[in-house]
Amino acid sequence: MNKYFITDGKEKFGPFSKEELRNQNISMETKVWCYGMEQWEEISQIPDLEYLTSVIPPGINLKSTEEPLRKVEFEPKSTSKKELKSIQATVKKNKISSAKKWLIAVGVIALISIIAYSSVQKQSDINLYNEIVANSYESDENFEMYVEKFYRDLEISGITKKNPKTTIIKLSRLDQIDNATHIHGVSYGFNDDDKIEIYINASTWKKFNKPMRYFLMYHELAHDILNVSDLDNISQNEGELMYPEISTYENKSMDDFIESFHSLFDEF
Ligand SMILES: [Zn+2]
Repeated sequence: MNKYFITDGKEKFGPFSKEELRNQNISMETKVWCYGMEQWEEISQIPDLEYLTSVIPPGINLKSTEEPLRKVEFEPKSTSKKELKSIQATVKKNKISSAKKWLIAVGVIALISIIAYSSVQKQSDINLYNEIVANSYESDENFEMYVEKFYRDLEISGITKKNPKTTIIKLSRLDQIDNATHIHGVSYGFNDDDKIEIYINASTWKKFNKPMRYFLMYHELAHDILNVSDLDNISQNEGELMYPEISTYENKSMDDFIESFHSLFDEF
């Protein structure tokens, strides 16, 4: 296989195989010589090296020919590698920082939405609460009795809960309030150990039989004092104290009620 020498007009370099020539700084004007050739020829004149010149745009050198070839033979590689790395790093950095900016923007928008939503939610909760309170009234119902019994039953089950500073249990016209989610009773002392605040729907109270009243009162007191949530409204939970549809408990007995709160208290 032919080995080629190249020259920049001042010095000659080589010999290079055709493969090695690929890595040399070659322009259309680069002169080449190999054994058998009478004189230096421009690389474009050598059919054997056509593939090298076909990728060089006419009139444009890959590198300035003013620099000595030997020097540029190594430098382009390292420089370009280094440059490429730094370009890649910059691109990556830009990508990351723009991605970061987007992430921050999306986060801020989400946060604003959450705050806006929760403040609207809060306001509507406050409005609902105010309406419930405005529709509540003092009655002769002995709600204290349920509270005292509830604490006694807790104690028997080995659950100690301190008595709250404030206890408000009133009837209210819950069924006449728009957007009221709890028709029969609602507790506002959830997660506040210093306070019991429960509103019972007046017409519900009138309608409910004795076991149902106990179910309802213990249900709301469990929300309020034990901070437990409603169970899912599925048939498997029917009969439980925290079942959300206590109004369907018409046929339940006091024994059913006792069983239901014992099964809840036992979980503690
Ligand atoms: Zn409930």
